[in-house]
Amino acid sequence: MPGYYVKIILIGYVGITLLFLANISYGQVSSLLTGTSGQIQNRYADLGDGDSIAVSMIKGVEPGPVFTILAGIHGFEYPPILAVQRILKTIDPQKLKGSLIVIPLASESSFFGRSVFIHPKDGKNLNRVFPGNEEGSATERIAAFLSREIIPISDVFLDIHGGDAGEDLLPFVCYYERKDALVQLKMARKLTIAAGFEYNVVYPYTLKSNQPSEYAFKEAVQQGKTALSIEAGKLGSADVADIDLIEKGIRNMLIEMQMISGSIHTAVDQKWIFGPDYLKVPISGLFYSDIKAGDQVSKGQLLGHITNVFGEVLQEIHSEYEGIILYKIGTPPVNAGETMFCIGRIIE
Ligand SMILES: [Zn+2]
Repeated sequence: MPGYYVKIILIGYVGITLLFLANISYGQVSSLLTGTSGQIQNRYADLGDGDSIAVSMIKGVEPGPVFTILAGIHGFEYPPILAVQRILKTIDPQKLKGSLIVIPLASESSFFGRSVFIHPKDGKNLNRVFPGNEEGSATERIAAFLSREIIPISDVFLDIHGGDAGEDLLPFVCYYERKDALVQLKMARKLTIAAGFEYNVVYPYTLKSNQPSEYAFKEAVQQGKTALSIEAGKLGSADVADIDLIEKGIRNMLIEMQMISGSIHTAVDQKWIFGPDYLKVPISGLFYSDIKAGDQVSKGQLLGHITNVFGEVLQEIHSEYEGIILYKIGTPPVNAGETMFCIGRIIE
């Protein structure tokens, strides 16, 4: 009897799985937008060569903007992934205006492989290969799918990251200052303010139309979309405070867009940083530093030192810039050429 019972449940479960996870192929994502209002459609999009990507389409009851939320470009950055899980669980399509496209885990192979920055199949960093290539390697095909299928049908594109397994990071919201797309730029700024983070970063935008965007949300900006990114979490942890911060940031943006109801409470004194500076690793070795993300540093200040494997000091690291540490390498191994510190000066 118990065996028979289990069998029925299994059959039922397989049936439900097929119903909700039917594969879709290229060109079919936009058709999900025309589906029945007030519904959530969960699908896997086929990327070829045995690879696929999860897409959740949440269509509200009232017409409105299409807001895309993307997590898991880097599979070791857990707070973005877990915050988006909360959004999937709590957004009620019956109370939603417009549509949400949620990509809960852009690189499942990186997530399940516990891979830092890179896709385990081809060793590429997904956030360096945009706009990607439909015929290319596993990473390039994910980028191509997002560039061709998701970004063009999005009004707002939000890509969420954090400090990866080896990065210490101060949470912030950021966008590109694309001055020849003023409507989108103003909206990006409005949504950044609404998110309610203490630190907010504006990157200069100098990309030519024929240059590869490399980054997911930069690709969206290049395509003329309102795009922004949230950064929260650090050092491979899944800290609840970071998950809370991201979830609140997303909700505040959706309230600002009038896609969900509610009111925005931003209690913090928002600080702005334009065009942060980067300090690169001068020589590979073991990195020692007492400086943390969020610390204020001055020009010339000793930030740490690098040794060889015998413990001999190879080089002291002095800051070339004044400002606040937005993120830094937070673990001992450093490789020449990597970004060691990102330092931003707060605009008064
Ligand atoms: Zn990332």
